[in-house]
Amino acid sequence: MGDLKGKTALVTGASRGIGRAIAQRLAEDGALIAVHYGSNDAAAKETVEGITSAGGRAFMIGAELGVPGDAEALFAAFDAELAACGAEPGLDILVNNAALNFPGRIDEVTYEEFDRTVAVNIRAPFFLVQHGLRRMRDGGRIINVSSAVTSTAHPSQIAYSVSKGGVDTLTRTLAKDLGARGITVNALAPGWVETDVTASRRATPEGRAALAAYSVFNRIGRPGDIADVAAFLASDDSRWITGQRIDVTGGSML
Ligand code: NDP
Repeated sequence: MGDLKGKTALVTGASRGIGRAIAQRLAEDGALIAVHYGSNDAAAKETVEGITSAGGRAFMIGAELGVPGDAEALFAAFDAELAACGAEPGLDILVNNAALNFPGRIDEVTYEEFDRTVAVNIRAPFFLVQHGLRRMRDGGRIINVSSAVTSTAHPSQIAYSVSKGGVDTLTRTLAKDLGARGITVNALAPGWVETDVTASRRATPEGRAALAAYSVFNRIGRPGDIADVAAFLASDDSRWITGQRIDVTGGSML
């Protein structure tokens, strides 16, 4: 287990799914966690309560992403909540996890769906990094959540795939720029994971089996499978890794 005592981490989309698991794991490792969410404040509260009842430290911040001024609003809330809990200002770990997915092939996606996908999945992380860097201490960590859809082609998720391609490029490009400050930037690329996003596909035994069959381990990924790798990337143990996109698909691409 890494030692993140004294560090502050912001995890976007931490009310549910993979983001919640990352928040919980970084808290177990000792970090103070800003649990970001969009609209589901009950779920965010559950994440915070889970962390604090296990002896960790966390606070929640709500901010809609994909709208003008989203990064400013999120960081204004972050600064205020950090001060309210008596913590030092500043940030050590930024996890860009929140995203959405409008399925659709090239002839189906509307302008509005495309714009919304890009605004939430890549424009928001871009400006969260811009604002986050003004607060991030040297030696910090940026972890972006990408997807297996940038390894293999998924025509039925073309807008989402394009947005996640941007996440990979952002990761590589930033890593080169931020090395001088000792900040590493890496991406995690999960395959199918048991979250609300895959709930309908997992609703039948056949659906579950089909998703499980992607992995060489013949099971669907769990949020904790991704969170444990995020914890490694957040820790000092990963200091010599930057600009990388790490496959966390349980061997689905082999
Ligand atoms: P979930 O849908 O379970 O959770 C999404 C989280 O993001 C929630 O916390 C939600 O907040 C927040 N969020 C979504 N849209 C917005 C928005 N516009 N503004 C603010 N917050 C928002 O997602 P997963 O856990 O499944 O996915 C997490 C990441 O992993 C994403 O980047 C996704 O692309 C990636 N991924 C997931 C895979 C999977 O199989 N699940 C596979 C590959 C990649 P709220 O609760 O308030 O709605």
